[in-house]
Amino acid sequence: MQRLSPHPSGRHFLQIPGPTNVPDRVLRAIDQPTIDHRGPQFQALAKKVLAEIRTIFQTRGPVVIYPASGTGAWEAALVNTLSPGDAVLMYETGHFASLWRRMAERLGLQPVVLGGFAHGSWRRGADAAAIEARLAEDRERRIKAVAVVHNETSTGATSDIAAVRRAIDRAGHPALLLVDTISSLGSIDYRHDEWGVDVTVGGSQKGLMLPPGLSFNAVSDKALAASRIARLPKSFWSWEEMLSANANGFFPYTPATNLLYGLAEAIDMLLEEGLPNVFARHARHAEATRRAVRAWGLEILCENAAEYSNTLTAVVMPAHAQGGRHDADRFRKIVLENFNMSLGQGLGQLAGWVFRIGHLGDFNDLTLAGTLAGVEMGLALAGIPHRAGGVQAALDYLRDTAPAASLPSARRAA
Ligand SMILES: *Cc1c(COP(=O)(O)O)cnc(C)c1O
Repeated sequence: MQRLSPHPSGRHFLQIPGPTNVPDRVLRAIDQPTIDHRGPQFQALAKKVLAEIRTIFQTRGPVVIYPASGTGAWEAALVNTLSPGDAVLMYETGHFASLWRRMAERLGLQPVVLGGFAHGSWRRGADAAAIEARLAEDRERRIKAVAVVHNETSTGATSDIAAVRRAIDRAGHPALLLVDTISSLGSIDYRHDEWGVDVTVGGSQKGLMLPPGLSFNAVSDKALAASRIARLPKSFWSWEEMLSANANGFFPYTPATNLLYGLAEAIDMLLEEGLPNVFARHARHAEATRRAVRAWGLEILCENAAEYSNTLTAVVMPAHAQGGRHDADRFRKIVLENFNMSLGQGLGQLAGWVFRIGHLGDFNDLTLAGTLAGVEMGLALAGIPHRAGGVQAALDYLRDTAPAASLPSARRAA
C-alpha cells in the first residue's frame, strides 16, 4: 500500500480527543479468530465484560453495550425513556451538546435549551442554578428529562454532574437525568450511582482506549421503569431485548465480538492501574498541558479553572495583526505534515478558531512531551505569535510531580 505520510517511521501521534491511541495490549486482544456468538466461549466473554464494565461506570446496575458509535447510544438513551412530544431540558455547552439537541428534535422531542454559544456557554460547564430555576418554573412537569454532556469535547469544559443532580432534587422535579460521558469515561472521575444519573452514555474510542465501534448505556431503575411506558419507536436500540439476552451472556443480534475482546483487556488495564490512579494521571497531564499553553502566551478556551477538562485542552488562536485570527486548521496541517501528529480541529462555531490537544487514554509523560514539542515547533513554523518555553514549563511540572520526586533521595539531590 502506498504511504500517504511523508514520515513512515515511528508511530503517528493521534492527539485528537478521540479516537485515541490504542495500546498494543488491546490490539493483540482484538487480533483473535472471531468466535460463534451463540457458543459457550462467547458467553464467558460477555458475562465477564458485562459485569466488569459496571466498575468503570461506578454502577451496580446494568450497562447495555451496542455495536455502534457514541451517537447510537445517544439515540438509545432518548428513545428508550421518552415519548413523542416530551420536553427535554438540554444544556448547550458546545458542539456535542448541540448535536444531541438536534437529534432530539429529529426524534420528535421538544428540547428546552439552556446556554448556547451566544450566551458564552461554550467556554464553561452547565450552570446547575439555571437548570434548577428552569425546572422550578415547570410546574406542570412537562420536562421529562435533563440532558447534560459531562465533558464537552469541543471546548474542553466539564460539567459538575453531582451539582446538576442536586439542582434537580432541590427543584423537587421528577425529570430523568441523562448524561453523555463519551470523552470522560475511564479518564475523569464519573459516578453513575452516587450522582443519581438515570442514563449514562459512553463510547469505546476515547478514555476506554478501544477503536471506534462500541457504545454504552448505563441504566438506573428509574430509567428502566420509564422505558416500560416510553412510546418513541425503538427496535435496534431497545433495552428490553438486550437486557433479557444479556442475562444469559448473549446478545439479541451479532455483537462486535472482537471489540469485546479488546474491551475486556482495556478494563483489565484500567483496573490494574486503579481508577483513582487513572484519574490522577489525566489530571496531572492536563495541568502540565495548561502550563505549556500559558507559557506560550496563548489562551485556554475554558474560562473557569474549576471546570477545566482533564482529557483535552482547547487553545484559542491569537488575533492576527490584519484583523481576524490566525487559522487553526492551517496550523494543524503544518503539524501533521511536518511531525506526523493529528490535533483536534475546532468544531461547529469554533471552526478555525481553536485547536484541541487530546491528552487522554493510553498516554504517559513522554507522550505528552512529544505532543507538546510538536505543538511548539508547529507554532513557530506556522508563524503564530507565541513565546518559546511551553514544553519546558510542562517538563518542569512533570519532573516535580513525578512519582520519584517525593522520595528522600530526590529531595537530597535537589
Ligand atoms: C465523540 C463524542 C460524541 C460522538 O460520538 P461518536 O462515537 O462520534 O458517535 C458525542 N459526545 C461526546 C461528548 C463526544 O466526545
